[in-house]
Amino acid sequence: MIIHLKKDIGNKRASEIAEKINAFLIEEENQFVLISSSGQKTLDPSYEADVIESFVFDSDMQLAARSYKAATREVKIGEVTFGGSTGNTLMIAGPCSVESEDQIQESAELLKELNLTTLRGGCYKPRTSPYSFQGLGLEGLKLLVKMKEMYGLNVITEVRDATHIQEVIEYSDVIQIGAKAMYDQGILRACAKTQKPVLIKRGFGTTLQEFVQCAEFVLSGGNPNVILCERGLRTFETKTRFTLDLCGVAYLKEYTNCPIVLDPSHAMGYAYGVPDLTRACVAMGVDGLLIEVHRNPKVALSDASQQLTHQEFKDLLKTLSPIAAAVNRQII
Ligand code: PEP
Ligand code: MN
Repeated sequence: MIIHLKKDIGNKRASEIAEKINAFLIEEENQFVLISSSGQKTLDPSYEADVIESFVFDSDMQLAARSYKAATREVKIGEVTFGGSTGNTLMIAGPCSVESEDQIQESAELLKELNLTTLRGGCYKPRTSPYSFQGLGLEGLKLLVKMKEMYGLNVITEVRDATHIQEVIEYSDVIQIGAKAMYDQGILRACAKTQKPVLIKRGFGTTLQEFVQCAEFVLSGGNPNVILCERGLRTFETKTRFTLDLCGVAYLKEYTNCPIVLDPSHAMGYAYGVPDLTRACVAMGVDGLLIEVHRNPKVALSDASQQLTHQEFKDLLKTLSPIAAAVNRQII
């Protein structure tokens, strides 16, 4: 249950009620908002004078529900705004991993040349094998910040576990929570305490309800800037790396108010399929895309098979504008 309290009741009274009914207390648009479990359907009449309105839900998808906030949340990353009614489809692009200064600089230059704003690059890689490249860590974060300063780009990087969450919050413009890390409550709770945008990737065996509940952890802790990212599920199929759940995306668009980003690179796992899949993603009318691109994918230290070359990425980008326009959007 979500309860909007009267503006003038003050922090002390709002906290008192929150404690009594065991609810989260956040401030939203200058308003005290209480969130208790969806099991709560009524409020003790003794609080009536403190309350403006309340909302009842049938599951623990509450703050993220369109039935609570009909409009998609607008998210600001530096000067860039997407979500809301902007019609923007934000192209997030860059290599899987930050590997060296000259490598990430070539990516930054590519984005600048193409008038794009948001550079990705992993520094703490959640690899399946402990013997694979694990990322440059803090050194990588510093390189991303250097690119941000040199080229005026926003940067996004992933957090692997809660041990380095504060560094990622400090250095990155958007915090990416990876598919394997999305259940980590240390990460979710830390992300709730910042106002920086958080992009949560859906785990490859995660139901939509569980996925949205991860968003609820961040939202109920006071951070309204949550972005949901579909990046493919594990199915019986092995010819492609994962299976992109576009049905799930249709569900999320209909029932949630968080901006949605689609990641065809990780879903497909092979560069040959990424351009077609990206066009299908744009046609879904989503708020963003995440595409891996590398100056020389063959020698990439992670996800080598799925990264596009610079030329492939440029060719792809040219084809996206008319598709975006057909669904009343523009690629930014
Ligand atoms: C990535 O974005 O490089 C990544 C590891 O993604 P995921 O968490 O979706 O596997
Ligand atoms: Mn990757």
